[in-house]
Amino acid sequence: MRNHDSEPVLSVQNLQVSFTTDDGVVRAVDGVSFDVYAGETVCIVGESGSGKSVMAGSILRLNNSSTATTTGKILLGGVDVLSADESVVRGLRGSEVAMIFQDPMSALNPYYTVGDQIAEAYLVHHPEVSKKDARQVVLQMMIKVGIPSPEKRIDEYPHQFSGGMRQRIVIAIALINSPRLLIADEPTTALDVTVQAQILDLMMDLQKEFGMTILLITHDLGVVAEVAQDVIVMYAGRIVEQSDVEAIFHAPTHPYAWGLLGSVSSYGASKRGDLFTISGSPPSLISLPEGCAFHPRCVHSLGSGSRCQSEKPVLRPVGNNGSRSACHLADEVLVSIGTGTGAR
Ligand code: SF4
Repeated sequence: MRNHDSEPVLSVQNLQVSFTTDDGVVRAVDGVSFDVYAGETVCIVGESGSGKSVMAGSILRLNNSSTATTTGKILLGGVDVLSADESVVRGLRGSEVAMIFQDPMSALNPYYTVGDQIAEAYLVHHPEVSKKDARQVVLQMMIKVGIPSPEKRIDEYPHQFSGGMRQRIVIAIALINSPRLLIADEPTTALDVTVQAQILDLMMDLQKEFGMTILLITHDLGVVAEVAQDVIVMYAGRIVEQSDVEAIFHAPTHPYAWGLLGSVSSYGASKRGDLFTISGSPPSLISLPEGCAFHPRCVHSLGSGSRCQSEKPVLRPVGNNGSRSACHLADEVLVSIGTGTGAR
């Protein structure tokens, strides 16, 4: 990972999020800490239920406050989001941080024109601007996100747009106040492949233009390879590896990260000649296995009675490229992967 001289745009410190359910307490995020610096694209990867979306929702304080208990610190623009007044957090949303979700249709109100929805997001932070002037700002933004004939389309409703065009509108709403940080939660998953590539290209172009920082949640390692500088791998609510993109693809230090790569033909499989999958399923977040939560699925586990089964691994620096890994055997895993024996 790179050295940073400046303060991070986002600093997440020992974040814990749990939900009370009829079946017990779900520990969705368990002691997550990381920093994101200006202009970076950081990708968060992991299977469904690994805690990545809950973690992202915490940054905007979107988790249901009646069932969720959240502790730790989330520093955004010098403000601790978790302890700030609701009015302060509302001020941060849109201007400091904005979020794009997977399904553009559910993010848009079917009863209002797209122009009104983009303008509303703008006017919340610029109440002194007239509606007429806001319309001009909206038209400019629609041009930036690649909506053809914006003068006509500004007065149309979401159902009159294709999925890709709707996601462009959602991006326009997110960027209308030039936030420093954009959180994108699987922003291209609901789109077909060619549109996915267009939306990703658009996000990267706009990142350069606006000087934004991006936190991208995705399960698509092709996307990670294309856009990320740093990669955070989550499993069972914890970070199990954080590395720069080169390291994660060429020298992963956690068996789970290696497994994710090995299940994609163009990456890890090439080292052993065929594809493999990670056996088993993610654990219940209500009753995690003792020790390392990944041990029931890990091909490197030391087995019965070992520290893999009794001691929770701590996220620690491994190797000489700034990677962090939460595996007792990270150094050995790194060496075995380097020799092509990382996956058995
Ligand atoms: Fe596998 Fe043990 Fe490392 Fe967990 S600590 S990932 S079980 S080798």
